Amino acid sequence: MPHQIIYNSPIPPVEVKSSAIFAYAFSEKTSRDHSPAFIDAASGTRISRLELYELSLQFAYALKQRGRARGEVAMIFSPNSLAWPPTFFGLLAAGLRVLMANSSCTPPELIHQLDDSAASIIFVHPTLFPLLLKAFKFLGISDRDARRRVVIMSYVDQDRADEKAAEIGPEWTRLRELFGKGGLHSEELFAGDQVHETALLCYSSGTTGLRKGVEITHNNIVSLITALPTYFPKGDPKTDISLAVMPIYHVYGLVILLWDFVTKVPEVIMPHFEPNLFAQTIEKYKVSRACIVPPILVVMSFHPAFENFDMSTLRVMLSGAAPMSDSLVQKVLARLANLGNTQIRLTQGYGLTETPAVIFLPLEDAVRKSGTIGKLHPHLQARLVDDDGNDIKPGPENWGELWIRGPNIMKGYLNNPEGTKNSITPGGWFKTGDIAVVDDEGFFSIVDRKTELIKYKGFQVPPADLEAVLLSNEDILDAGVIGVESVKDATELPRAYVVPRNAELLKDPKAAAAFGKEIQEWIKTKVADHKFLRGGVIIIDTVPKSASGKILRRTLRELAKKEAS
Ligand code: AMP
Repeated sequence: MPHQIIYNSPIPPVEVKSSAIFAYAFSEKTSRDHSPAFIDAASGTRISRLELYELSLQFAYALKQRGRARGEVAMIFSPNSLAWPPTFFGLLAAGLRVLMANSSCTPPELIHQLDDSAASIIFVHPTLFPLLLKAFKFLGISDRDARRRVVIMSYVDQDRADEKAAEIGPEWTRLRELFGKGGLHSEELFAGDQVHETALLCYSSGTTGLRKGVEITHNNIVSLITALPTYFPKGDPKTDISLAVMPIYHVYGLVILLWDFVTKVPEVIMPHFEPNLFAQTIEKYKVSRACIVPPILVVMSFHPAFENFDMSTLRVMLSGAAPMSDSLVQKVLARLANLGNTQIRLTQGYGLTETPAVIFLPLEDAVRKSGTIGKLHPHLQARLVDDDGNDIKPGPENWGELWIRGPNIMKGYLNNPEGTKNSITPGGWFKTGDIAVVDDEGFFSIVDRKTELIKYKGFQVPPADLEAVLLSNEDILDAGVIGVESVKDATELPRAYVVPRNAELLKDPKAAAAFGKEIQEWIKTKVADHKFLRGGVIIIDTVPKSASGKILRRTLRELAKKEAS
């Protein structure tokens, strides 16, 4: 067997309790007190830690009364709301597996998830109810059966939820009906090896390939959360307020929710990102911590909303889910400094649904090493591997696919042994599909996804690299790069879609073309020859992105195809 080059986490291992997620979250008696755990951003309604514990056991009791059994799959199909925490913890207390469906998924995706997971009960936000009914119809589920399986998920007046809920007939169960009818004395227990049972199902983000049901165990999550406070600055329950703007259905948002809960930092929940609402919520609740994605930073770098509200309380922002370049960091820090905030620490984590969430964080030197993803999370090991499975020698230009091994890694893909076999080696190495590089101090950087690399005459061009350079240009607000086919040159050519600071350019095709040419020339002063934007620079009003913050290059490719035809 070829020699393996294995990178170990520099942080000593910590003791991980053999525990289910629910038992871990509520393990100390003191964790069930009257302090606020979750706050609805719009209404200010709060759920205390004790209330959440009691609501969860009442909820679990009601589920058992309705015949729901341990191990069944329950789907939550809802944007962020205060209904999430009691529903989530209640399902875990009853021993059910929680399928966290993307609230913006399309009808075919919803049908696939319902069918593949065999979810027996669905908690649906009132605004998504019609979509669910359509999916049921397609799957041939009778009205009678549907009524037994659906719970309308509204908890406080929020985001038109109650208004929509009122339009839904009384024959459908409301979330409120599951509370206050008695409670379990204790949650379902998971002893010994049972902590390796599946707790969560997340259909992986699907910016590439088919969506697969990622099976995440209790132990995966407990292992991750236990180790986090050992190296990432823990919040202070007395002074910190965290903001949940990332979708909780994505494992990134869920892990933040759990982490805020176990570190006892109150978390304000808002339904989705909107610049004014985001800035207003930061001021209203004196938010000090926020986990975000690069597209939010892009907006923070220029949007006028941030001038109208007090941003001075923000102390830590963690970005994830997509590359956060140093150029973007500098833009945002400069903007916040102009707004009077010079104390903010802006750092990024890296991970995948399959790992789940964060597996790398800058441990120290976040400023000096801005743009890198830092070092490995405790208990984990990494390798950088070429297409033939050989390990790459360390070096600044030596890229390889990042492989990870350790207790956090998912169990596998649901009903998909082939997919699992293709992504986890017999030795337990999970293939991330991301190309990475490690420097001589052991800091890793993500170059791009393996499948996104542009091939220009045999040279590999990572779009993320070019996007970072484009973002450093003061006249560009946002950028997305793809490869376009050139039949003449028999190669792919890097092409950029950019959002100009001067919005007037969008109305004037001639001026837009001239600006594109200017950027094409400018980039030549910044990057190597094979990265020149030979495929052109096109002006657009927004770069298409997924809810979890990734550039939808597929959409840009479709745009390019349309332009070509
Ligand atoms: P998901 O499963 O939706 O969490 O997506 C995981 C993918 O997001 C990874 O494979 C990466 O391609 C990308 N990703 C996450 N965090 C980062 C980061 N800090 N830098 C670059 N890419 C990232």
